[in-house]
Amino acid sequence: MTTHLHCEKEGLVTRALANGAFDGDDGLVTHACSCPVCSEVVLVSRFLKAETPTAAPQLPDAGILWWRAQLDLKRNAVARATRAVRVVRSLAYAAAAAAIAWILFETLQPGALNSSVAPYAASLIHLLANGSGELALFGGVLAFLTVLLGSMYILWAEN
Ligand SMILES: [Zn+2]
Repeated sequence: MTTHLHCEKEGLVTRALANGAFDGDDGLVTHACSCPVCSEVVLVSRFLKAETPTAAPQLPDAGILWWRAQLDLKRNAVARATRAVRVVRSLAYAAAAAAIAWILFETLQPGALNSSVAPYAASLIHLLANGSGELALFGGVLAFLTVLLGSMYILWAEN
């Protein structure tokens, strides 16, 4: 018995559509063609099946994911290990900039010969101009102090 709102075979049609057995059942297909309720169920069911994505979302390959994770771990380890070097390098740049600014400020002032830095600046300029062995000694001492301070920082950072 079919009314305009309900059909007694609607449940059969719905189950057959869900199981994929609808097209094989000629009796149901014939009924759905003549019944407005069941034809609407078939229409809506096929529309929803067409709109529903059947394939699972594509995930990257597990090997690639593992490789990327390992790469991230290595990058983080390198960043952690070189943090002390970067900090000391930044401090060295700041110290060099401050020293240059100080030397320039003291040298360019009127009466600079009487200031406290001018003799050092003058001797440094003399060293740079003449290129003697004293310059190598000065560079060696500076390198030693830099390595010493960097090592002390690394030891301090690990503890
Ligand atoms: Zn029907």
